[in-house]
This record gives sequence, C-alpha cells and structure tokens, in this order.
Amino acid sequence: MGALESVVMDPPEVDLPAHALEQPRIRDDGTPETTWQTWQGLDAIESLPIEKWMHPAMRLVVVAPHPDDEILACGGLMAMHAARGGSTLVVAVTDGEASHAGVSSWRATKLAEVRRTERLQGLSRLGCAGTEVHRLGLPDGNVAGHATALEEQLRRVVRWGDIVVTTWRRDGHPDHEACGDAAAGACGAAHCCLLQAPVWMWHWSRPGDPQVPWHRLVGLGLTSREVAGKQRALAAHASQLEPRGSAVGPVLGPAMLERLTRRSEYFFV
Ligand SMILES: [Zn+2]
Repeated sequence: MGALESVVMDPPEVDLPAHALEQPRIRDDGTPETTWQTWQGLDAIESLPIEKWMHPAMRLVVVAPHPDDEILACGGLMAMHAARGGSTLVVAVTDGEASHAGVSSWRATKLAEVRRTERLQGLSRLGCAGTEVHRLGLPDGNVAGHATALEEQLRRVVRWGDIVVTTWRRDGHPDHEACGDAAAGACGAAHCCLLQAPVWMWHWSRPGDPQVPWHRLVGLGLTSREVAGKQRALAAHASQLEPRGSAVGPVLGPAMLERLTRRSEYFFV
C-alpha cells in the first residue's frame, strides 16, 4: 500500500525573497560529525530501548515542519515502529516550497509538488509505505505566523496514548521551533508523550554547549539496517541534496549527511 496523503490546503503561489532562507544559527558547514563522535558527552546520554516506552499498538504521530524532517528527526524510530506492526501518522506542516527561494528559478508550487513526491518515496524506502500523511499546507518559512492555527490542527489530531515526535523548540530554525511549541501545547492538552528531536542543533551547537539541556536528551539505538534505511530514504529528497544554484550549495550538506550515519537518534523528553 502506498502512503496516503490527505490535503487540507495548497501552499501559496509565492516566490519568497532570499532573506526567507536566512537562519542566523544555520550557517557555514556546521559542526563536523567527527567532533560529535569524539565527545564523551554523547556516550553519557541515556539510551532507552523502544520496548521500554512504546508498545506497537500506540500510534506514532510525527509533526514534520518540512518534507525530510521526519527522516532527519526520527526515521529510525519510524522504521522500527513500522517493523513492529505499529501505525504512524505524519503531519506535514509545510510542503517545503521555500527551500530554494531567491537562489533558483524553481517556482514555489512546482517545488512543493516535487517535495511532496520525494516525501512519499522516502517513506516507502524507509519501510513506512503505509504511513498516512496529513498535509496542513502552512507557508514554509512562516509557520510561526500561523502558530495558533497549527496548535488547533494538532489538538484535533493528537489523542491520549499517542507518542508524538517533532523538532526541538530551540532547534535554531523558526519553523522547527514553532512546531516544537505547538506540539507541546497540543500534547499537554491531550496528556500524551512528546519527544522533540534536535535537527539543526547538531549543526550550530558544539559539544557541551551551555545553551543545550543535554541532561534531558535520551538516545534510541539503531541497527545498521535501520541506518541504511534512513540513508536510502533521504536519498529520495534529491531537491535538498543538489546544489541550488551556481554558487549556492544544497540545503543538506556533507555534515548533515554524516550525521545520518549515527547509530542513535536523540530526543529531548
Ligand atoms: Zn526542516
């Protein structure tokens, strides 16, 4: 069965200016993975086997700001849950139409269409072809401007007993942070468990960075097969892996790809 996509609304037909891409904390090449791998603090993070906190009958709800965030944040967890027979709902907050704004000739609506297709292919490669995708169609780059609408939507979707995963509310990308905040509100109301995954934090922070509450991170160990599945799934997101222009690199650079080889995923609880 292919992934099921439900549509709420289409993204706006706009080409955002280049400044829409500027995220003050996401610059340069980011902290290399070798720096993280030689840091003992990473080894000190408590690891929790999935059997200890998630029953296969529980629903996994992944609130993804952009297509590909579900893989970067928790692709291993999704694959594990699917392999145990669990069901997953991906709430697709935006279609990622602003990733090339101001630096390429892509029209926003065309890019959104491409990225929706990449997402479905990625889920299929992850072993999650039956995943339901619930599109919200909020504007990429301005989720915070629709924070109330997002939280209302999530309150309708999330229910007691779900495990909800989204991006960390201090991740350094405004859309990621808005999703973290809205999910916290919705999960608080439904009394369900929320895990917030750092995605861009690994890019801008450094080992032991005092801005990061390291003591609140837990790890989920992955098999080499699950790691390989994540890599195959991310490869479906070609629009994010190719240079965006003659002098503009891909959205996901070498440091992000190296992080995908990790044998653990990490979540703030
Ligand atoms: Zn993102």
